[in-house]
Parts: sequence; C-alpha cells; structure tokens
Amino acid sequence: MEKDIFCKIIDGEIPCHKLYEDDDVLAFLDISQVSKGHALVISKKHYDNFLTTPQEEMHKVMDVAQRIGQVEIKLLGARGVNILTNCYPASGQTVMHFHVHVIPRYDGNEGFILEMKSNEGELNLPALAKEIHNNLK
Ligand code: AMP
Repeated sequence: MEKDIFCKIIDGEIPCHKLYEDDDVLAFLDISQVSKGHALVISKKHYDNFLTTPQEEMHKVMDVAQRIGQVEIKLLGARGVNILTNCYPASGQTVMHFHVHVIPRYDGNEGFILEMKSNEGELNLPALAKEIHNNLK
C-alpha cells in the first residue's frame, strides 16, 4: 500500500515546518495556513483517524494539540483556537492519517468558517439519546 503524505513527512521523505517532535507525536505547520499558525499534530504510528487510534496514542496527540493552542494564544495573540479532527471523507478528511488541526482565530476573517445550524427537522431526542447511551461502553 502506498504511504500517505504524513507517513512520508514522518520518514523525512517530504519536508515540513516542524513545531514539535517526540517518540510518538509530530507537529508541523499546515501547508494551507487557513490562519497564521494553523498547525497539524499527528501520531507517528499510522492510524487512519481519531476514531481508530488507540486511546494512549490519541491522548498523546491531544496533549500536544493543547500545548500548541496555549502557546499560540500567548505568542501570536490569537483570541481563540479551534481544535478539530476530521474522521472519514464524509467529514472532510483528505489525508487518511490521524491528525488534529490547531487553528488560531484572530478577527473572524480567517479562511475557516465553522457554522453549526440545526437542519435535521423533527428528531426523537429522548429515543436517540437512549440508543447512543446504551451503546457506550
Ligand atoms: P484534512 O482535510 O482534515 O484531512 O486535513 C489535511 C490537511 O493536510 C490539509 O489542511 C492540508 O493543507 C494539509 N497538508 C497536506 N499536505 C501537507 C504537507 N505536505 N504539509 C503540511 N500540510 C499538508
């Protein structure tokens, strides 16, 4: 199977603007920079996405994402940060290697808009909540 682009970055076959590295985690600037400091935090071991990543690895990635967000507020003067991870193409995932976006927010004119609007019509929320609850281990 062909290596994904993030595995190539981990293996040094493709360069990146590195922010952080340890044995398990790598963080670098996203090539697209939807806002100044837009970072990606990835697991060095290959997992397809957040949902398929073992808890321990996932926690290590989230820990670094939190630290980068904290630094970007302090250092870059961001007024907020979106911590975002897409799972599967239906959510917008384009690179099938677990990664977390850290997107600093400044004045609302970033190249990133997150809008949540209710568009599902009538739902039976008690039944839905019960079904999900009953399937959580
Ligand atoms: P997603 O759509 O959540 O899968 O995000 C993938 C991200 O990877 C996009 O924001 C791309 O801009 C970013 N990306 C793709 N190739 C590279 C690269 N070589 N270096 C840095 N970021 C990259």
